[in-house]
Amino acid sequence: MMETEQTQAAQQDKKTVIIIGAGPAGLTAAWQLLQKTDMRPVILEATPDIGGIARTVNFHGNRMDIGGHRFFSKSEEVNDLWRQILPPEEFLLRPRVSHILWRGKFFDYPLALSLQTLGKLGLSTAMRAGVGYLASAAHPRPVHSLEDFYINRFGRPLYEMFFKGYTEKLWGVPPSRIAPDWGAQRVKGLSLGKALLQPLFKPQRAREVSLIEQFHYPKHGPGQLWEAMAAQIVRQGGEIRHNCKVTKILLEGNRIAGVVAGDEVFRGACVVSSMPVKDLVTAMGQAVPAQVQDIASQLPYRDFITVGLLTKKLLPGNLKDTWIYMQEKNIKLGRLQLFHNWSPFLAEEPDKAWLGLEYFCTEGDALWSMSADAFISFAVEELARIGVIDPADVLDATHIRVPKAYPGYFGVYQDFSAVRQWLDGVSNLYCVGRNGQHRYNNMDHSMCTAIEAVRAICADDGDKTAIWGVNTEGEQA
Ligand SMILES: Cc1cc2nc3c(=O)[nH]c(=O)nc-3n(C[C@H](O)[C@H](O)[C@H](O)COP(=O)(O)OP(=O)(O)OC[C@H]3O[C@@H](n4cnc5c(N)ncnc54)[C@H](O)[C@@H]3O)c2cc1C
Repeated sequence: MMETEQTQAAQQDKKTVIIIGAGPAGLTAAWQLLQKTDMRPVILEATPDIGGIARTVNFHGNRMDIGGHRFFSKSEEVNDLWRQILPPEEFLLRPRVSHILWRGKFFDYPLALSLQTLGKLGLSTAMRAGVGYLASAAHPRPVHSLEDFYINRFGRPLYEMFFKGYTEKLWGVPPSRIAPDWGAQRVKGLSLGKALLQPLFKPQRAREVSLIEQFHYPKHGPGQLWEAMAAQIVRQGGEIRHNCKVTKILLEGNRIAGVVAGDEVFRGACVVSSMPVKDLVTAMGQAVPAQVQDIASQLPYRDFITVGLLTKKLLPGNLKDTWIYMQEKNIKLGRLQLFHNWSPFLAEEPDKAWLGLEYFCTEGDALWSMSADAFISFAVEELARIGVIDPADVLDATHIRVPKAYPGYFGVYQDFSAVRQWLDGVSNLYCVGRNGQHRYNNMDHSMCTAIEAVRAICADDGDKTAIWGVNTEGEQA
């Protein structure tokens, strides 16, 4: 390269920000850079898709939401951004209807101590639950684990009935071995007392997140919003490179000098990363201190398989639920999504039931390793066994594996601060999003981390505290 070309390339690099991942966090970072700076975002995305875990999958005209994504945020910045991307007519306002299936009966979720609930529990179980709750309220225990967290809020009997089994299915380890942080972020200040009283006294905006009764939802699923955002990013001069998996990060001193994907090296003034922390540290290689490598390599995740199932009808009748938690012990199914209730536009034919059967697993375990066909047969059999469908009614099915759906809060997670501290020391690196921060961040939190990252890039003072400060309001020590 001639000297002038080299100088030009170096100037361009200074105006480029490399973003790893085209999920909500990466896209938001690119969007913010285009609105607030004269820098050019280049997004490197490992897959052909847009939206990461929050994408929409189109299967034979029926659309699947990987997990069911409610659009709800306490952040006005996030709500404004959503409104800028999609016109109001593309959003539906959906009622949240959700139940827990326990011993063949549907219980309201969030739990409500209505006469109906008491009737389904039966007198002696209801009394046991009430006494357990009062005992926990009178003598709260020190919170060392997720189990302690739940027992303090609901009492032991209700915890064992409605939370223990599902939480263990989700994480693959008992709640007594999980740090309380997940509960703090997942159910925030929700407790039995609040679950009973809040719906009566507080307006929706002020309620705890787990209690919201309505949510916004793009007609064609969450991916509709992320795809629209991606198109606008490209129109405004940003670049999105698909099938571009980052495998190596080149460090020079405490800075990233380049990011390698395939046989290309991408250079920029800074790097915004939403790739999993575990993979990021591996990609940095031997420049990382051994202790940090060691912790990062063992960071726990929970993976996820979802089966999309089109069926003629549901046996219990026309269920109104958006999703149902499966507390039943005799099945592995964790949660059932009723996509046609999320949005009628997700299902191609309005008279059919379009379902998502969610299984939590760990990459490489027996569930993860099953072939797609075998898994679908197994899932159909489970749903038939609990009386939800007749296998003869099934019309179509698909099987999707979602690695690293949940960053885990157990095992070496307790030492995560050492990893964070080291990554913060890499001056031009900004870690954002869910797996990018190894935190149970929802879409809006993931977006907020990206918004804060762009603020930090503009401030250029090396302070990344605000990026990590997102979604910590309910965290416990
Ligand atoms: C079951 C389930 C239900 C959920 N429900 C909700 C909900 O109701 N509401 C809500 O707000 N949130 C919900 N979430 C959370 C939401 O999905 C996440 O917060 C959000 O997707 C995180 O965005 P992200 O950009 O950080 O990560 P991701 O969505 O994971 O995107 C990261 C992107 O980076 C790419 N990538 C990874 N590694 C590399 C690499 N080496 N090189 C290049 N690219 C790479 C991935 O392919 C992916 O596209 C749910 C999540 C799950 C699992």
